Amino acid sequence: CGIVGVTGNQNAVQILLTGLKRLEYRGYDSAGIYVNAQDGKEYLVKEKGQISDLEAEITPEVHGSTGIGHTRWATHGEPSKANAHPHVSADGRYYLVHNGVISNFAQLKAEYLSDVEFKSETDTEVVVQLVAKFAQTGLTTKAAFKKTLNLIDESSSYSFLLMDNQKPDTLYVAKNKSPLLLGIADGFNVVCSDAVAMLNYTHDFIELLDGEIVIVKPDSIAIEDATGNKIERQSFHVATDA
Ligand code: GLU
Repeated sequence: CGIVGVTGNQNAVQILLTGLKRLEYRGYDSAGIYVNAQDGKEYLVKEKGQISDLEAEITPEVHGSTGIGHTRWATHGEPSKANAHPHVSADGRYYLVHNGVISNFAQLKAEYLSDVEFKSETDTEVVVQLVAKFAQTGLTTKAAFKKTLNLIDESSSYSFLLMDNQKPDTLYVAKNKSPLLLGIADGFNVVCSDAVAMLNYTHDFIELLDGEIVIVKPDSIAIEDATGNKIERQSFHVATDA
């Protein structure tokens, strides 16, 4: 339902929680964050209910400078802690948040993932398990992500933020029919499904189009179209403090 992400030399937990709170008006049944501290430590915290319920689960040791967060409006699988995002691959390497619906998830699961033990009933988990599976065959994360995106039926809707704990400062981003914006802040970058989530941190956003893949690092945003061409796109300024 709502997505936030951040990478840079900042308190990611605070930025993600602030962003999720600003998305509360959209409604949701559960929420979660994943943060990586880039010192070998990473944290996944999810909870059913309000952002305040999630916040109550976040102990002082939970910290990081790169992370992703999600508020969920369940479409596949009941509202529960297990079905809350972020979802993690069976090998523990990849973390994913998703807005939307993967219409051919059952087919993909049957075809590629019959040997994988799932932790949730969501359509989303199929995607993170596929990325991990393809990465295990030797593909780079970008190639594994791309291969996965190509298998998703066009009728699906998604905005994805993916993290790889072997590249802990990087966000992998893609969308189809669901909104997602890249935000340029002072010394760090953010991603969000609605500009309102990040207006505390930036008013400068770059639009993302269906079919593009973006690699966001603390000091760079690289957009590619589906055929791998680099895209240069100007940012736009959101003047109000809505
Ligand atoms: N289809 C996903 C789920 O049920 C994402 C729902 C959403 O957009 O919040 O977990």
